[in-house]
Amino acid sequence: MELTEIFGSNVFNDKVMKERLPKQVYEAMKETIEKDVPLGPDVADVVANAMKDWAIEKGATHYTHWFQPLTGVTAEKHDSFISPTEDGGVIVEFSGKQLIQGEPDASSFPSGGLRATFEARGYTAWDCTSPTFLKTDEAGNVTLTIPTAFYSYNGEALDKKTPLLRSMKAVSKQALRVLRALGNTTATKVTPTVGPEQEYFLVDKKFYLDRIDLMLAGRTIFGAPAPKGQELEDQYFGAIKDRVSDYMADLNAELWKMGITSKTEHNEVAPAQYEMAPVFTTANIATDHNQLIMETMQKVALRHDLVCLLHEKPYVGINGSGKHNNWSLSTDEGGNLLEPGRTPGENVQFLLFVCAMIKAVDTHADILRATCATAGNDHRLGAGEAPPAIISIFMGEELTEILEKISKGEKNSTKGARFVTVGVDTLPAIPRDNTDRNRTSSFAFTGNKFELRMVGSAQSIAGSNAALNTIAAEAFDEIATRLEKADDTNAEAAAIIREAYKKHGRIIFNGNNYAEDWVKEAEKRGLPNVRDSVDALKAFVTDKAFCLFEKYEVLSRKELHSRYDIYMETYAKQINIEALTAIDMVKRQFIPAVTEYATFLAGSIGSFTSVSISAPVQEDLLKKIASLLASSYKNLARLEAAVAKAQRTEDTVRKAEAYRDRVFTAMQDLRSDIDSLEMIVSKNMWPVPGYTDLLFKL
Ligand code: ADP
Ligand code: MG
Repeated sequence: MELTEIFGSNVFNDKVMKERLPKQVYEAMKETIEKDVPLGPDVADVVANAMKDWAIEKGATHYTHWFQPLTGVTAEKHDSFISPTEDGGVIVEFSGKQLIQGEPDASSFPSGGLRATFEARGYTAWDCTSPTFLKTDEAGNVTLTIPTAFYSYNGEALDKKTPLLRSMKAVSKQALRVLRALGNTTATKVTPTVGPEQEYFLVDKKFYLDRIDLMLAGRTIFGAPAPKGQELEDQYFGAIKDRVSDYMADLNAELWKMGITSKTEHNEVAPAQYEMAPVFTTANIATDHNQLIMETMQKVALRHDLVCLLHEKPYVGINGSGKHNNWSLSTDEGGNLLEPGRTPGENVQFLLFVCAMIKAVDTHADILRATCATAGNDHRLGAGEAPPAIISIFMGEELTEILEKISKGEKNSTKGARFVTVGVDTLPAIPRDNTDRNRTSSFAFTGNKFELRMVGSAQSIAGSNAALNTIAAEAFDEIATRLEKADDTNAEAAAIIREAYKKHGRIIFNGNNYAEDWVKEAEKRGLPNVRDSVDALKAFVTDKAFCLFEKYEVLSRKELHSRYDIYMETYAKQINIEALTAIDMVKRQFIPAVTEYATFLAGSIGSFTSVSISAPVQEDLLKKIASLLASSYKNLARLEAAVAKAQRTEDTVRKAEAYRDRVFTAMQDLRSDIDSLEMIVSKNMWPVPGYTDLLFKL
């Protein structure tokens, strides 16, 4: 098949709907998708039937309401299309009701107290703005997969999609008010667009299966660095090895079938690290697609005897993985609100939206940081790796200069503009500053979009985008309110830009975010630097957060609390798994192996001395090993005690803190002993594959 035929062949997309739905039904569907007009039951029945016929023709036997619980991964329960008949046969059926709503047994999903135990039910509701598609597996099983939102009996969001959809509505409403105030009477919807770049590692399956830390925790909890790392800078954008490009080709084919626009692929900085980026799309679709991308990456890898690692930091000493979340806003007229215009009128609009984001990010940096807080991501943010835990905005020199001048009421001398103080509408066209990309910034303006670089590679992007949309909605709301009241819109716009820059300009930083000086400078500017998840998550339960999310009806206080609890618990559970894995490996793999080697050395010393030859090398090695072994045994006991104590801690936050302050640190000390041992014990006797095997044998 041609590429253009493969693409979207498993999607119930616009083309299929046009072909298969009666004209009226098709138009009703379009109204619902594009204008949020509620879907009537008659329409739903017709759509469901067409969907079923299409799916069955393509080999489907089952359908599923596919949803995104707070675990961060997706969930699905399959039901077949069959319905028994009286004569002992079956017919295939799929009603509008089955399409629109489902009721999976949801008692085993985390709800953070949102569901009483007697009311375990959760409901799924069709998100018809994200296309329904077919999931297929290698054996040829096909499932009609319906993207849904997941909520409780009382309508509380039990998932990551519901708040995202609510935030999209909020930001659209407020952005439209700004546009109206600026004289746009035609746009009817503003949509956040998202393009997430996904980083990942590949490892040979046979090595992976020999490492229970990789299998159970997703990262190497032990492992001495290989003699070579990423210092030669020979991997980034390097020629892709055949085995990997075979994998990528297979991955692309699978993604394209599901209508996912896999576009860019390349080697990343670290050995055995790669990146894939799709073309941006509507935020909820991009989120669904990113979940599918992660799932498909892992599934396809196995077919190639590879394992795809999505953890933020599988290996120490080399780069970890993240997700660059590119975000912008577009109108239903096709305009990008963050595109610097060519005409003065567009400039006002652009500068207003950019300044709104400056204000939003400065005001709610803590919330954005919280959306990126996971145990895995702690190894990147604030741990000496890109980006730092400090949120700042890279604006580029040129834009910063323009804002600086407006704020001071100065003439824009470089461009020879006449006056900037009176009306912003006299500004020159703003050049698109694409060249000066700053790779170290946590939130960078890259020409016509912002790029949040803090999201973890294994995370759902739903939370960060819901937060971005909501903080944007708040800033737009304030701007719209001022513009609507103003007699002179231009003068007011100028004042808004001036004030935003003066008050929130501290968040702009165009320099090197890795530099030590920046940490000090950021502190002087009063920018938060929250280094770990436990502290970062607290931003979800402040009065500021309650006010923000309740005002725009994205998350209630209760829903925020539930997320806070669940993420805090998940953090503790994650480190608990790591600690138990570490204990297991040390007790049952490393100590026995080291003892065996020590015994071998002792034997060798005996053999040497029995023929009157001294054995200083073996003696020296044996002493070093014995000392490291003793130290590791002590650190093992410390870790076991710390875990036991943390497990006994009742309070969720105290518990997470215990894992962070005692368990994690004990694990690090234990690692240090074991990694030193790995470097002197015979490779043949080391019980697990080392970094050279894991990173360089693809
Ligand atoms: P890089 O930042 O690595 O240079 P690209 O310029 O290729 O990467 O873009 C990265 C991602 O940004 C892609 O997924 C792309 O589709 C997305 N992107 C481009 N324009 C927008 C936009 N207006 N809104 C959201 N994402 C966008
Ligand atoms: Mg990028």
